[in-house]
Amino acid sequence: MTSVQITFLGTGAGNCIYRAHTAIVLDWEGGPRVLLDASSGNSLLRHGAHLGMLATSFRQILLSHHHSDHMGGLPHLQGQRTLLEPEGAPLEVHCSEESAAGLMRLFQATSITHSVNRDGVASAEGKQLVSWHPVPISRWLDLGFGVRASAFPVDHISGAVGWRVERDGLAVVFSGDTRFSPSLVEAAQGARVLIHEALSTDAERESTSRRGHSTAGEAARSAELAGASELIMTHIDTPFHYQHGPLIDEARQHFSGPVSVAADLYQVTVGLG
Ligand SMILES: [Zn+2]
Ligand SMILES: [Zn+2]
Repeated sequence: MTSVQITFLGTGAGNCIYRAHTAIVLDWEGGPRVLLDASSGNSLLRHGAHLGMLATSFRQILLSHHHSDHMGGLPHLQGQRTLLEPEGAPLEVHCSEESAAGLMRLFQATSITHSVNRDGVASAEGKQLVSWHPVPISRWLDLGFGVRASAFPVDHISGAVGWRVERDGLAVVFSGDTRFSPSLVEAAQGARVLIHEALSTDAERESTSRRGHSTAGEAARSAELAGASELIMTHIDTPFHYQHGPLIDEARQHFSGPVSVAADLYQVTVGLG
């Protein structure tokens, strides 16, 4: 029976002042380790180190989109990996075409000695340090150890995607940032866990949608329509950091399975059955 440990290294919305920005680690039993988004600044390194997850333990990254609260930590992750293991394998980032272009601009703006091109980042000596791989929507990506992943479009910015990662019928689905999205509902069918962003409650649905995000009610309705077994809400904004009861209460009105709000450094292991 397969299982996966989910570790939340960052659970805050872009404007949240109490939480690190989005980064989620999936540790599949027996391998591999897969990182969903890379937070901003050094939060991924700092929170990862707290749990014994050093930079060199991250190799495969599934990026949802090119907003800085999701990809801003990548140059720091690359720098630390290169420092610890100069001859190590490059970081492999899977993302949309638009996000690959965003990554190129990010590394061009932050790299001093490295060269940046359409495929990734290389050292002055020509050693590849980061490779990014634009992935077609819905094409399965082999991550090793029988784990596969597939990107699906979501409704946030052009090129934003969510990810379905699965092995032996055990699926974890991550929304990235999105408004309520029928394509997410379709991609999340039968998920063991749906990790969905929730910026506010339905009382602020219009302003939340204008910002490109979902309410707790919308996250829960997606989970219910997808037939997911469990909903974990993340990308939490400042007003709900200490008091996330309203998010939980609203989600429970629309989804019959277990509901929780993630916190930085929260870890949970799930399996089937
Ligand atoms: Zn975000
Ligand atoms: Zn965003």
